[in-house]
Amino acid sequence: MFNKILIANRGEIALRVIRAAHELGVKAVAVYSEADRLAPHVLAADEAYLIGPAPSAQSYLKADVLIDVAKRCGAQAIHPGYGFLSERAHFIQAVRDAGLVFIGPSPDAVTAMGDKTAARARMIDAGVPVVPGTKEALADAAEARRVAGEIGYPVLLKAAAGGGGKGMRIVRGEDEIEKAFESAGNEAQSAFGDRSVYIEKFLEGPRHIEIQLLADRHGTTLHLGERECSIQRRHQKLIEEAPSAVLTPDERAAMGAMAVAAARAVNYEGAGTVECLYQNGEFFFLEMNTRIQVEHPVTELVTGIDLVQWQIRIAAGEKLPFAQDDITFTGHAIECRITSEDPANNFMPSTGRIQNLLIPSGPGVRWDGGITPGVEVGLFYDPMLAKLIVHAPTRIEAVDRMKRALAELRVEGVDTSVPFHLRVMDEPEFREGRLDIKYLERHEDLMT
Ligand code: ADP
Repeated sequence: MFNKILIANRGEIALRVIRAAHELGVKAVAVYSEADRLAPHVLAADEAYLIGPAPSAQSYLKADVLIDVAKRCGAQAIHPGYGFLSERAHFIQAVRDAGLVFIGPSPDAVTAMGDKTAARARMIDAGVPVVPGTKEALADAAEARRVAGEIGYPVLLKAAAGGGGKGMRIVRGEDEIEKAFESAGNEAQSAFGDRSVYIEKFLEGPRHIEIQLLADRHGTTLHLGERECSIQRRHQKLIEEAPSAVLTPDERAAMGAMAVAAARAVNYEGAGTVECLYQNGEFFFLEMNTRIQVEHPVTELVTGIDLVQWQIRIAAGEKLPFAQDDITFTGHAIECRITSEDPANNFMPSTGRIQNLLIPSGPGVRWDGGITPGVEVGLFYDPMLAKLIVHAPTRIEAVDRMKRALAELRVEGVDTSVPFHLRVMDEPEFREGRLDIKYLERHEDLMT
């Protein structure tokens, strides 16, 4: 095991990794920007280093600075969290070249899954079902028109380098395709510096269901079941749960086997997630996220397996001590993302100083947070302040427990997504588990 690791991140995930390290007896080194001097991850770490001004490009994205700090403080490995540098192959390579361990997959695996068209091609070769569509980026608007005609409308134009729902356009008819091709390309260019787009069939009301994976470097790749993440706004997840209310054990096994095949196809190591669309018992590979995900705690609660500890243990060369049949699922877990956004005002980002904070507790409640009173919430970083997660024997008990926990929570100083979550917990379709990715389009009243 390592003696000391550096966490190249901030907020709740940095704190989450520090906790995992401490439970393993590993020292944790934090880095922080000028805006994060008082942040909880700085206080919780054994050592902390200022790496630059507030903008991420001058701090949390400074690969050379992070590697330099790690070397100087004697850390043996770097945990990237999610976002920032977590899926940048050149960073992983630079970490390795500096003689450090990257806690995550190889640069090759990240590259193979990072370009969506390349990943789709790889998955097709590995026998993994993908959403019908093109295998390669489109050459021009004329090709987009021809291919969309073949697949049949509606189609979805997607950025090959995509992420965070950017560069996506739904196209319902031939008259819109050329304009949509241009605008998707422009958005992809400005977001990712790459204008390549490809086409998928647009599925009308699927669920977003994803499979958690763990793979060691000794040949064991396991799945830890699914997470249902259909409650999304503009393709961004807001509420996640495990297990899904609809998957049968056979479907879980089939999706799990598919995800394991996807990971094996790129010699995957560490924790990763295969995201799928699921409709009428059919499922299709969307993409693989080659990092820990925001919503990982719901899987931890139903499996009893600490995913972040296992990321560190796998990177240190340990073998997974369990087999697929040893993974069992107990109860139901739900996570609400607590963001500094005003749900009554189109989820507009809200800024200010956290004045007061009352964190819910009691049976089955977990708080993964990155804020304390006195902390200033600005516009430099992601608006997610914390995650509230509950675990209960059944789904409906988990829903009611979440309702109770949300009612206990007080965040004063900024507007938050809490009122929205409280309404969802009372909404009949949600309570019955009738979810799909259009759920919020049907329930705009929850956002007023
Ligand atoms: P990103 O990497 O930008 O997040 P994804 O490919 O993961 O993009 O898709 C994000 C979300 O967009 C999905 O969770 C789903 O809600 C929606 N989506 C993606 N592909 C399709 C599709 N072919 N049909 C319908 N909805 C889709």
